[in-house]
Amino acid sequence: MVGSTIEIDLAALRHNFSQVRKLVGQTTAILGVVKSDAYGHGMVAVARELETQGVEYLGVSNCREGVPLRQAGLTTPILLLLGIDEDEIIDVIKHDLTPVLFRGDIAEAISSTALAASTQIPVHVKIDTGMGRLGVPHVEAEKFFELIKSLKGIRVEGLLSHFASADEHDKSFSTQQLERFQRVLNQAKSADLNFRYAHIANSAGIIDLPDSYHQLVRPGIMLYGGPPSQELLHPVPLKPVMTLKTRVLQLKEVAAASPLGYGCTYLTSRPSRIATLPVGYDDGYDRLLSNKGEVLVRNRRAPVVGRVSMCLITVDVTEIPEVRPEDEVVLLGRQGDEEITADDIAAKTDTINYEIFCNFGGNRRKQFLNSSVS
Ligand SMILES: *Cc1c(COP(=O)(O)O)cnc(C)c1O
Repeated sequence: MVGSTIEIDLAALRHNFSQVRKLVGQTTAILGVVKSDAYGHGMVAVARELETQGVEYLGVSNCREGVPLRQAGLTTPILLLLGIDEDEIIDVIKHDLTPVLFRGDIAEAISSTALAASTQIPVHVKIDTGMGRLGVPHVEAEKFFELIKSLKGIRVEGLLSHFASADEHDKSFSTQQLERFQRVLNQAKSADLNFRYAHIANSAGIIDLPDSYHQLVRPGIMLYGGPPSQELLHPVPLKPVMTLKTRVLQLKEVAAASPLGYGCTYLTSRPSRIATLPVGYDDGYDRLLSNKGEVLVRNRRAPVVGRVSMCLITVDVTEIPEVRPEDEVVLLGRQGDEEITADDIAAKTDTINYEIFCNFGGNRRKQFLNSSVS
């Protein structure tokens, strides 16, 4: 008895990748962001599929994600978005990974290890243009460039920044970040720092800010079929990649005024048919969906009634008399003409589609459909 199943439609992933290509053209490189188990979609399988589609770069958080990609045989360049520790420099050389750099002490350590190994390590320097998180503050970029230029074991291959609010309707802060980024790029040029890639565009930038492309773009969520927000100016047709399914484990008739689940938070208002499903918050199905969620069964919507428990939920199928034990139930995705999107769920749990994908998929077993990798 399987609790729930995650299906990953790699044909949908290819479709979404082709949408990115269509927007940015052939001359802009694409870095497919596959961090956090490819937003829960399965890092290795997604990376392989993107490699067949000609992705120029892959992006992961750290060595812990980058090394397994190499071990799985991926040959595409890999950027470590969160940089590295000193004790990971050897792994970076051994597995041909490219760290993002934003700290002088790490820069010095990378350079001296590289020189000791008679090599140079390519890096991408991250500039904070307003996100306030990772990166050399943009006003300190010139000073950082001087340091980098003195370190002969380092070769700057890229310069990047990250948008804070490109997904919002108001693009004024993004425009300011783009201006700061351009100023830093000019400073790099004045400092004779030559590199191949400047990059700042995430999915929202790709969709709404063509001026942000530079030489490389970094799509994440749009590859997985999620719009980066509901406020986009130029939405593109994307196909959801992930489906979460289960089956009806038990079906029962209950009288009016029957309590359901922990805490008896739901009382039936009429004689009801209740389907019990083997899925719960252990599967990433948020407890906040208690008495709020919906599922699809027999191509109809059925409401979650009672609390979400660790491994079970109950849904009211009184209005869908055809339902039988073992019927397929869709918690995320399409069934017939009905669809439940990650955005539908996110709206009910006060979060964003990104977190729904991570919660459902992250490091769980998946079934991959429509692979083009032989
Ligand atoms: C996660 C991430 C992205 C992808 O962002 P999306 O909004 O999912 O497209 C791009 N760049 C960096 C640095 C990231 O960490």
